[in-house]
Amino acid sequence: MAVQVEKSPEALLVYLACLRGGFAFMPMNTAYRMEEVDYLVGNAEPALVICDPAREDEIAEIAGRRAGAKVLTLDANGKGSLADALAAHGNAQLPPVSCAPEDLAAILYTSGTTGKPKGAMLSHRNLAANGLALREAWRFTADEVLLHALPIFHAHGLFVACHCALLSGARMIWLGKFDRDRVLAELPRATVFMGVPTFYTRLLAGGGLDAGAVRNMRLFTSGSAPLLTETFEAFRERTGHAILERYGMTETGMNTSNPYDGERRAGTVGFALPGTEVRVTDDRDNVLPQGETGGLQVRGANVFSGYWRMPEKSAEEFAEGRWFRTGDVARIDEDGYVHLVGRAKDLIISGGFNVYPKEIEEIVDDMAEVDESAVIGVPHADFGEAGVALVVLRAGKTLDEETLLARLKERLANYKVPKRAFFVAELPRNTMGKVQKNMLRDEYRDACRPAA
Ligand code: AMP
Repeated sequence: MAVQVEKSPEALLVYLACLRGGFAFMPMNTAYRMEEVDYLVGNAEPALVICDPAREDEIAEIAGRRAGAKVLTLDANGKGSLADALAAHGNAQLPPVSCAPEDLAAILYTSGTTGKPKGAMLSHRNLAANGLALREAWRFTADEVLLHALPIFHAHGLFVACHCALLSGARMIWLGKFDRDRVLAELPRATVFMGVPTFYTRLLAGGGLDAGAVRNMRLFTSGSAPLLTETFEAFRERTGHAILERYGMTETGMNTSNPYDGERRAGTVGFALPGTEVRVTDDRDNVLPQGETGGLQVRGANVFSGYWRMPEKSAEEFAEGRWFRTGDVARIDEDGYVHLVGRAKDLIISGGFNVYPKEIEEIVDDMAEVDESAVIGVPHADFGEAGVALVVLRAGKTLDEETLLARLKERLANYKVPKRAFFVAELPRNTMGKVQKNMLRDEYRDACRPAA
């Protein structure tokens, strides 16, 4: 059942109905345009597509042509032909269909920063194992009130947030989207808040976030993109809360989390969750000594079985022993905390040397004039690839390219220093707060090529 609808309580009920009825649920990002929906519906071939009434005509055309699928509608207020059809059947309740643990529960297409999106197949076991592990790790109880401001077409808002609350019999305050004023107004009634880093930077940008606003809060969590140390510190100063950062992905659910009771260390994603194992390997899947940087692999009941209709691609992603190659580059420090260094595909190979963008970004971000930065690799005639830094300055600050690069040269081996730096108004981000490095790579493709 493919679904592209605005967030509403009814939209969540559609997901739960799929779990009860033994259907595979396939949510689609509401920002997807027709071309993207066309691809996903053609690839997944759902039997039913549920969409916003405003898009019914276009979606019906795609659903019919690509999958011979029926279409029903659901708007942000729970109205539409789905509600009408239910009413016509007297809102009859059907008994749950029993499912085996390995039965398909959901297909989520990955954000796909390179190539076509791939449908990650998640089983009932995957979802249940991860939900129960998080409930325990984050100490959820029936007394909880979760302030829910994330979208529900993504694993973070749909699985991580909802499963913690629902498996605990807790309550949720359900916001259609993140709205700073609404979040601040509702916070005093809540005990838990889950966000992407952008939520936290927006909450910090302005008044109203103080000890009073968080008086009933027990836990703030962050994930889906890296939380800057600076944000972590500023948030602690304003609210007294250490944001708990965790790490996961569509294919695996959550893999690691900072501890609930122990030290939550900024810039790290903590330890493997109960039931999940993590390891760092070289390119040949050999486990590296602790402290060394390499590819992060995970395994456990949370890890998906493969991509929909891509058996070869799926097989390639697993090392022997069902270890999934996440594509994230990481290091495990002497205390066991996992540090993410970047995506393998973001790795820059300059003159044969590996350059991890994160190492450079951290230094640039620490400069007093700088708000944030992204370092990407672009073609270079001599080195194969060279680094380029895109830098967002703080309001009212100035900095020139020469000074910035000179400062980096003082602190980094020459091969790591970007060849160029550009100052930009903002970094392109997707709805989950991830910087779209592929867009930057396209835009700056010729930055290190000699002018024709
Ligand atoms: P998605 O499948 O859209 O959830 O994206 C998963 C990817 O997001 C991971 O493979 C990581 O690269 C990134 N990610 C998730 N959580 C974090 C985090 N706490 N810090 C840095 N990157 C993260």
